[in-house]
Amino acid sequence: MHDPPAPRPPDPGSPPPLPRPAGVRLVGLTGGIGSGKSTVASLLRARGIPVFDADRAARDVTAPGTPGLDAVVAAFGPGVLLPDRTLDRAGLARIVFSDPAARRRLEQLLHPRVDAAAAEWLAARAAEGSALCVYEAALILETGRDAWLDGVIAVVADVETRVRRVVERDGGPPEPVRARIAAQIDDDERRRRARWVVVNDGTLADLERQVEALLEELSPVPPQEGAK
Ligand code: ATP
Repeated sequence: MHDPPAPRPPDPGSPPPLPRPAGVRLVGLTGGIGSGKSTVASLLRARGIPVFDADRAARDVTAPGTPGLDAVVAAFGPGVLLPDRTLDRAGLARIVFSDPAARRRLEQLLHPRVDAAAAEWLAARAAEGSALCVYEAALILETGRDAWLDGVIAVVADVETRVRRVVERDGGPPEPVRARIAAQIDDDERRRRARWVVVNDGTLADLERQVEALLEELSPVPPQEGAK
């Protein structure tokens, strides 16, 4: 069994910024496995904030029939396809988990495609008049994407709480969850680099209260009636 790879330092040089429509604030949302970032994303969406899910976009750009899937198969071989010709995501995750060069190759294939999807999504939200949008991804700080966001929200939680939540959510043993947590940057670094920190050690009601408070801070103040 391989040791988990050491947390990766940010890539030198930030990825090119997305075209940023005027008047839209784009805030990042990230967190380690089981921290609750998807739950925070749902709470934001329920309050009318558009959230771009970069991890889902990475799946969409490698769906059957896409040029993204063709590119991944060309790079990693047909062994990364399941019998039904869809991408074997778990198998690919195992390959890149223990091979940093393979991980970089995969990221070079996926990230430009995800960025293009994000740019299109953001332009559409801007056209609808959204003033605040959120970019949710597991890897924001690790890939230097924080450089082109208007601040990042980090969701943090105690490691044991995260392990318990993932085991309850997905089933399976805790050890692989611990190994994946050890391979990510830690919450101390997330806290240092994030502009806003949501501590998700409590109940869902506690989390909701924090999201409400955060939205008060993030939402643009509507102009006062009669203000000059
Ligand atoms: P991953 O990176 O693995 O997708 P995540 O950071 O998106 O994880 P979630 O899926 O939001 O995490 O949360 C993990 C699990 O913990 C989910 O089943 C979610 O419903 C549950 N959960 C999140 N926050 C809380 C909380 N405060 N109290 C109880 N359960 C919670």
